[in-house]
Amino acid sequence: MADFMSRKDLDFLLHDWLDVTALTQRPRYAEHSRETFDSVLDLSHDMAAKLFAPHNKESDQSEPYIGDDGKVVLLEAITTAVRAFGEAGLNAGTFDEELGGMALPHTVARASMVNFQAANAATSSYGFLTVGNANLLAKYGTDEQIDTWVRPMLAGRYAGTMCLSEPQAGSSLADITTRAVDNGDGTYAITGTKMWISAGDHEITENIVHLVLAKVPGGGPGVKGISLFIVPKVLPDGTRNDVALVGLNHKMGNRGTTNTLLNLGDGTFAVPDRPAGAVGYLVGQEHQGLRYMFNMMNEARIGVGFLATALGYAGYLQSVEYAKTREQGRPVDSKDPNTPPVPIIAHADVKRMLLAQKSYAEGALALGLYASRLVDEELTAPEQADRDHAHLLLEVLTPIAKSWPSQWCLEANSLAIQVHGGYGYTREFDVEQFYRDNRLNLIHEGAHGIHGLDLLGRKMVMDSGAGLAALAAAIGDTARRG
Ligand SMILES: Cc1cc2nc3c(=O)[nH]c(=O)nc-3n(C[C@H](O)[C@H](O)[C@H](O)COP(=O)(O)OP(=O)(O)OC[C@H]3O[C@@H](n4cnc5c(N)ncnc54)[C@H](O)[C@@H]3O)c2cc1C
Repeated sequence: MADFMSRKDLDFLLHDWLDVTALTQRPRYAEHSRETFDSVLDLSHDMAAKLFAPHNKESDQSEPYIGDDGKVVLLEAITTAVRAFGEAGLNAGTFDEELGGMALPHTVARASMVNFQAANAATSSYGFLTVGNANLLAKYGTDEQIDTWVRPMLAGRYAGTMCLSEPQAGSSLADITTRAVDNGDGTYAITGTKMWISAGDHEITENIVHLVLAKVPGGGPGVKGISLFIVPKVLPDGTRNDVALVGLNHKMGNRGTTNTLLNLGDGTFAVPDRPAGAVGYLVGQEHQGLRYMFNMMNEARIGVGFLATALGYAGYLQSVEYAKTREQGRPVDSKDPNTPPVPIIAHADVKRMLLAQKSYAEGALALGLYASRLVDEELTAPEQADRDHAHLLLEVLTPIAKSWPSQWCLEANSLAIQVHGGYGYTREFDVEQFYRDNRLNLIHEGAHGIHGLDLLGRKMVMDSGAGLAALAAAIGDTARRG
């Protein structure tokens, strides 16, 4: 059976190209070494192979559903895998040791995660969202919020979500209508409906920490009036919060990740002795919510690029394996029907399709790891000028790191189906699922066209084109190195 990710390629990119071991000379990563990085990658591939890959197809065919008791029913294997991921400390990979983290470089943590994404895109999304949520709260939350919500997420006891979209407001978050009213006791009453919320309800963890964008009356127009709230499924005293699962969306792919329509504060789980509305806790300052949420979105965008890459990679590896074993036709210069057929990998057009996939998947993996290395530079480079430069490049590269793999690794999956011929179009093989799973990545975390607008309308012209100039210089340096 084909592997889902090439360790040889990861090692080449991490060490021969990006020299991640050099990061261990910086105080933040001083506890690490090539050996600790290797152990994390070994563990990740092993866990992904044993706990994530085996139920990938079954979770596509057995969608989550709502049971008679109103609770989400998921494949047991998803629950087992997500819990094992959390218990292994993988939610906490890049976090401070003080929070129970491993203080891993982001580059290494992404290389670890891409194994899970390639083995099972849908199941990997639970940990992915929890990590992004915890990162945001670790940066902008109070000490109490970090103790109450971040620590249990990092320990794998709680899961996290991001609740931005509403039925009438996807690309245009200025139009959200979820409201937050100050209760005057340190909490807010949240009312509204959130659409498309991934991992929005399940029984995998003790609690789910929703990060919800909502408007406090009296705020400015559009996005200026948006604030950010923690709205947990279960309150700290154990009472159920008024967050109700209205329905599950039935998706083309990524079916193992529950995708939910949630009502906040509709009275389904009205909290006794409290004002109507779901109980929410403000993160940071009022009206700064979108700015904080961008922290999670930028991280998630690079992560979505990796998700697309992982699926492109897995499809590529499966189609190489298939092309080596499927015999069909004869070489153009030897058409004698008495000679045995050749494996299709011998045909020039099949080679073309394999090489195109290889270049999309390997190029996308390189792009994602390069962006992740910039995140490490932005956080830990000794000189301020280097940190600023990394920040500038990341501003330009983030929409590209999301969009390029989403477009071209989807094309890679289409080619993987083509290499399999008619068999690729059936559910007996995995590649049609990879294509369906990957189709999402052009839509969520900002639709493809919206990233195009962001890149051309904002990133290319910001600071009089400084980001574009920095990117052009980096490309020029690479080209000159040959
Ligand atoms: C499976 C899945 C999981 C998701 N998970 C989450 C989640 O966990 N949390 C969350 O908050 N959201 C989530 N989303 C929502 C996702 O982010 C939105 O679907 C996305 O932002 C697009 O919004 P929309 O669906 O309302 O489409 P629309 O905004 O209606 O866009 C439709 C089309 O119009 C284009 N368009 C819109 N506005 C413009 C414009 N100004 N100029 C040019 N073109 C424009 C878009 O590019 C798109 O092609 C998820 C979605 C899906 C499908």
